[in-house]
Amino acid sequence: MAIKKLLSIENLTLLAIFAGIAFGYFFPTPSLDLKVIGDIYLKLLKMLIIPLVFASIFVAIASLSGKEELKSIGIKAFLYYLTTTALAVILGIVIFHILNPGAGEHLLQLPQNISIEKKDLSIEDFLLSFIPANIFEVLSRGAILPIIFFTILFAVAALFIDPSKRQSLYMLFDSINDTMMILAKWVISLTPIGVFFLIAATVAKNGLEPIFELYSYVLTVLLALLLHALITLPAIGYFVGRFNPYRYFLQIKEAPLIAFSTASSSATLPVSLEVAEEKGGVSKKVAGFVLPLGATINMDGTALYESIAVLFIANISGVDLSLAQQITIFITVTFASIGAAGIPGAGLIMMTMVLDSVGLPVESIALIITVDRFLDMFRTAVNNWGDLLGAKLIDILLRR
Ligand code: ASP
Repeated sequence: MAIKKLLSIENLTLLAIFAGIAFGYFFPTPSLDLKVIGDIYLKLLKMLIIPLVFASIFVAIASLSGKEELKSIGIKAFLYYLTTTALAVILGIVIFHILNPGAGEHLLQLPQNISIEKKDLSIEDFLLSFIPANIFEVLSRGAILPIIFFTILFAVAALFIDPSKRQSLYMLFDSINDTMMILAKWVISLTPIGVFFLIAATVAKNGLEPIFELYSYVLTVLLALLLHALITLPAIGYFVGRFNPYRYFLQIKEAPLIAFSTASSSATLPVSLEVAEEKGGVSKKVAGFVLPLGATINMDGTALYESIAVLFIANISGVDLSLAQQITIFITVTFASIGAAGIPGAGLIMMTMVLDSVGLPVESIALIITVDRFLDMFRTAVNNWGDLLGAKLIDILLRR
């Protein structure tokens, strides 16, 4: 029994992370050659996302007792997403000012010939991006936000049809959901192998040197992420939900570990649903609603990272940001993290918008690009932990 516990997927995954780092560092060539094994695992996870999003949201809404309960979950989820994202940005800004990384370093020498496409996100585009013009097109493209938008409307509309017909729809989606969860379990059993090769290839490709070169920036981001994950979020769980957040973390830790290894909130979604329901005791209706939505729009780690990154770039460029500019950063970062897709590097792309909002050249992200993948792993783990904590909290609040 003890050996079985020791060899659990979580422990093996943790081991695979460390072994992968060492293998990637000492054997870069085979690590890159064998990257395909990690890619297969990642693709298997991605294969599950769309049907799971569709089925889990439908089942979640259809199993609610009515419009009131939907409103209650919806409001709680949005309040939670916004509060935790705002707290993450504030924490990022405060920790930055305390540690002041990059002050006086004036590293700014923009690499030549680099062209980085600026990401503009007007409120209009943002709103329009929710609405699918063609549901099959967004399904095939895997655009999660419009799929979620359509599924919510579809599920709510189903509340108005003849109950017996609704029951058959519900049975259909519930069966699809259960089947997908079995598939998810199969894929999850491959996690240690997949994670080992994913991490090894990442380390082989990026090396560890840039991390030491930009250590003051890297340490500031890591410290702030750690504080958010270990203090801010658990405090919300403890004081608002009155549960032990650390015990819950130990129950669901497999999901943040996979988020760390894949640097993708979306690819981790199948695992998050599985562990939240089966190990964390979160009801299907709450997990099915809060987790898919959270994986797409609730990104505390990304918001925190972006606020520090933009302040760091200003610092090494010798630019003093006014209070008004820092408030602008607060607002744009919050939107940028909502708009970022749950895929590797999405946060960095959205950074261009944040830099632009305070008049810093978008090309300056070239200065932090070398450590982006490394930080992406940590911020994605925090993004995922924020979603899972939110699911537990809302589940508890709903039961009261
Ligand atoms: N990789 C992150 C995620 O999937 C997004 C980001 O780049 O910050 O949650």
